[in-house]
Amino acid sequence: MSEFKGLERSCNKDVFTLKQKNMLEQVSNDYPSLLNHFRRAYRGVSRKSAIQAKCIECCWGDKKAIRECTSEGCPLWKNRPYQRVRTQPPPHGGEQLGKLHI
Ligand code: SF4
Repeated sequence: MSEFKGLERSCNKDVFTLKQKNMLEQVSNDYPSLLNHFRRAYRGVSRKSAIQAKCIECCWGDKKAIRECTSEGCPLWKNRPYQRVRTQPPPHGGEQLGKLHI
C-alpha cells in the first residue's frame, strides 16, 4: 500500500532538468510573479506559456522591452506577449484594449 502512495507522489511530482531548475531558481529570485509561465512551459502543457517564457527570458522580465521588441526576424515576434495595452474604459463601462504595434 505504501509503495502505491509513493508511486502516486512521484507521478504528480514535477521533474525538471538541472538547467530548468536553475532557470526556475533565477526567475523565482528576480521575477517570482512570472514563474508559472516557466513551469507550464517546462511541463509542456502550454505553448502560450512557452512563448511567454522565451520572451521573458530574452528580455529578462522587462515587459516593456518585450512589447517594444523590434526583432521582427524572430519567429516569435508576431506572437510575443504584452503587445496589448489597456486604455481608458469606454463610457458604457466595458473594457477596451488597444494595440500598441500594428
Ligand atoms: S519576440 Fe522579441 S522578445 Fe520575444 S524572443 Fe523574439 S526577440 Fe525576444
